[in-house]
Amino acid sequence: MTTLRLVQGDITRESADAIVNAANSSLLGGGGVDGAIHRRGGPAILADCRRLRAGHYGKGLPTGRAVATTAGDLDARWVIHTVGPRYSHEEDRSALLASCYRESLRVADELGARTVAFPAVSAGIYGWPMDDAARIAVETVRESGTAVEEVRFVLFDEKAYDAFARQLD
Ligand code: ADP
Repeated sequence: MTTLRLVQGDITRESADAIVNAANSSLLGGGGVDGAIHRRGGPAILADCRRLRAGHYGKGLPTGRAVATTAGDLDARWVIHTVGPRYSHEEDRSALLASCYRESLRVADELGARTVAFPAVSAGIYGWPMDDAARIAVETVRESGTAVEEVRFVLFDEKAYDAFARQLD
């Protein structure tokens, strides 16, 4: 059984086996939580990302997929980078957002991670409505069948925390 926990705060301050990054497809850094993870984690993370781009992910990491790197100076063993979909009013991209959580946990299982911290993927710059992002996150983790013992959602502000708390009730 996986325990789901909520924390309000900065995910780069968390200690967990793996910290998930809401990356963009380039894997070469960006704003929001991505920028914060690279800033605090130091250059080793970007160096690993560049190696991935030079190798298997020459065209970048596709939306809905996940890949692990070192966590550099963060208090974690791995960063799992996943690329959330941009929210669209025309098209339902929920399956891609669910895939981010499922694929991240699949990678975590492969690594043997026992604790994994997630931000609210796609709910920042990518514009996903927070309540819906929280619903997809919680449902997907609950249905994943992962061996991870604790999944921690680390929410940056109170609005995000409250949205996730409503889903856990
Ligand atoms: P995306 O491009 O997938 O929307 P963002 O990084 O813009 O990714 O935002 C995803 C969520 O992460 C947002 O709710 C944002 O407020 C939050 N966030 C930003 N910085 C941090 C951080 N340091 N720790 C935890 N959450 C963060």
